[in-house]
Amino acid sequence: MKNCVDCGREIPEEALYCMFCRAEQPVVTTVTPDQLRSALRNLKDEIMSEVRELLEEQHQQKPGFFAQLRSSLEELDRKTGLKK
Ligand SMILES: [Zn+2]
Repeated sequence: MKNCVDCGREIPEEALYCMFCRAEQPVVTTVTPDQLRSALRNLKDEIMSEVRELLEEQHQQKPGFFAQLRSSLEELDRKTGLKK
């Protein structure tokens, strides 16, 4: 249970709105660095699979574009710590 941010009455932990006054409740989530990394990895995999075909087309039309994107993604890996 948690307390409504507006009226202060007890409402279920997972409630998005207060059932008494209908006030919207802030969503509190705790994310560990590992969860964040795995979420980022999944997101990257999704993006990559969705755009892979497009990238291959781009590569045909603009040689070097794919290599440029790869290095951008590697840079992202370094910044987010996905790869050590
Ligand atoms: Zn309330």
